[in-house]
Amino acid sequence: MKVFALVGLQLKGSLSPFLHQALFRRGGLPHVYIPLEVEKEQLPGALALFRRNLAGFNVTAPLKEEILPYLEACDLSAELYGAVNTVKNEGGRLVGFNTDGYGFLKGWPGDPSALAGQEVLLLGAGGAARSLAMELAHQGCALTIANREEGRAQRLAGQVGRRFPKNKVAAVGLNKIPLKKYYAAINATPLGGGALVGQTPLHSRHLAQIELVYDLIYNPPQTKLLSLAETMGCATVNGLAMLVHQGLRAQEIWLGQSVPEDLVSEIYEEAAKELRQ
Ligand code: NAP
Repeated sequence: MKVFALVGLQLKGSLSPFLHQALFRRGGLPHVYIPLEVEKEQLPGALALFRRNLAGFNVTAPLKEEILPYLEACDLSAELYGAVNTVKNEGGRLVGFNTDGYGFLKGWPGDPSALAGQEVLLLGAGGAARSLAMELAHQGCALTIANREEGRAQRLAGQVGRRFPKNKVAAVGLNKIPLKKYYAAINATPLGGGALVGQTPLHSRHLAQIELVYDLIYNPPQTKLLSLAETMGCATVNGLAMLVHQGLRAQEIWLGQSVPEDLVSEIYEEAAKELRQ
């Protein structure tokens, strides 16, 4: 039996333990996956324990960037995004990966190659937004990054601009988003879920000129943002498919074997049912 974990804070509403346990069960594997609340200051001590006791773990807020200096190596995805959401323990050597961008693109409704050359509004500048900003720039999008703390959006825009000098990248405060046409808006803030349920980072006046709204939140399945967007005629998608795909990819990394495609939709349905309960 191997032990895997979700490491970070505010793990209560996370579907990751359910998802990974469901995958182990379906694969006939005796492994377990447990949530472990770890504060930033506890990280070095916790990692010493993880090296001895965990086969791998997922990393969530607020540790996705903080963990980087403690890892022995990172794959290309973690290097590109500058953040880690999956760690594999290779005999005490901790190797970082990032499956968020992969999950995000797999959850994209339609062909993500349609993103090339499009204007995208990215809400948030935290760990998830950082990975998505790099991935969206990699896909050829022009980005506007809007964040509550504007300076953080500016820093992220600067990092994206240095890595992708040909892309247009702008930064604004969340309350100063210019009213203009965007192909898509992506919510990578917690506004609308958990303790912030019922809140929205965008209002109808913004949504009038947006084609597609992608909310990374999956619990509740329809956030205030998504219901407003639907009313305004936008296409909408929540973060459940992203969660399922990034989780499946993490298991492929840990176990070194691919998850059959037909399992993806079964696990998605199982996760959606769990959320409805
Ligand atoms: P994070 O690193 O803590 O970043 C949070 C971001 O949200 C920051 O930009 C922060 O702005 C902003 N924010 C926090 N509270 C806010 C508030 N009350 N009003 C306005 N902005 C606020 O978190 P993360 O890991 O990037 O995750 C962000 C969201 O994406 C979470 O809801 C998470 O569950 C979701 N997520 C989903 C998936 C999936 O698979 N579906 C994967 C990853 C993340 P400041 O800089 O101003 O603090």
